[in-house]
Amino acid sequence: MRRRYNRPVGLPHQPPVSVVRPERLFAGYIFDLDGTIYLGDSLLPGAQRLIHALRQLNRRLLFLSNNPTKDPAAYAAKLTSLGIPATPDEVLNTVVTTTHWLRQHLPTATVFAIAEEPLQRALRDAGLRLSDDPAQIDVVIASYDRTFEYRKLQIAFDSLWPSDTARGGKPRARFVATNPDRYCPFPDGRGEPDAAAIVAAIEACTGVRCERHFGKPDPYMLTIALDLLGLPAQDCVMTGDRLYTDIRMARDAGMPSALVLTGDTSSETLQHASAAERSDYVLDRVDALVPETIWRDLGWTAD
Ligand SMILES: [Mg+2]
Repeated sequence: MRRRYNRPVGLPHQPPVSVVRPERLFAGYIFDLDGTIYLGDSLLPGAQRLIHALRQLNRRLLFLSNNPTKDPAAYAAKLTSLGIPATPDEVLNTVVTTTHWLRQHLPTATVFAIAEEPLQRALRDAGLRLSDDPAQIDVVIASYDRTFEYRKLQIAFDSLWPSDTARGGKPRARFVATNPDRYCPFPDGRGEPDAAAIVAAIEACTGVRCERHFGKPDPYMLTIALDLLGLPAQDCVMTGDRLYTDIRMARDAGMPSALVLTGDTSSETLQHASAAERSDYVLDRVDALVPETIWRDLGWTAD
């Protein structure tokens, strides 16, 4: 049974939304990072003590990100520098999921990755062959690449647009993306173009649709997360700030989910969401993820 609290949360001019806290502990805790644990380079309220408490309670933890411009070691270093000690094997992002899928399904493919160095390095380390010769390329990967340029677009075009594509035939190379995000949000309300912009550029000039991606909300990412945790979906809770990625992925897998209102989703947005889009739990701050009995035992306050 969930207990509903009538305490309004969110900004002063937003309609109130009821906080719904879990009344149980879970074996595994999966967290989105930006907007959930930190915002930019600042930890969000309660994140540090929550992670510390969950470790003390011997819970399994995993941090997820769609962002392929850093690898797990960089995320672990960032968390550690912010005051949440973490190791690379506690981080799963689209560098890992994309590389994993290629190794699993196309291990002998020659790949052209429109990507920054962390993904390029992971693909090389996994033994995949990288090339920028369209005649050699079997797979084009679009990603969040801040070094994107016309030369890369031309290579993708040439790889996907050989001879019979114009006549309705299949392109020779396959076309996938790391993640579906349109932009990466910044703390000041601005942002920068993400992988969807690169996908759109390639689709616009070739007419070839991107086949799939390996980030939230695709179930592939959660499947790998559960493998890493060694737990079934129902024994874990996914906590994040986006209904259409974090929460949708958990719901599709039958995993309990918690929306935290410290990032992308305002209480007003949540009020307009359908029942099918909503999370099991709603938190005004991430450390409300522990049951209230434990919160009290730990002597926590919301200040
Ligand atoms: Mg987020």
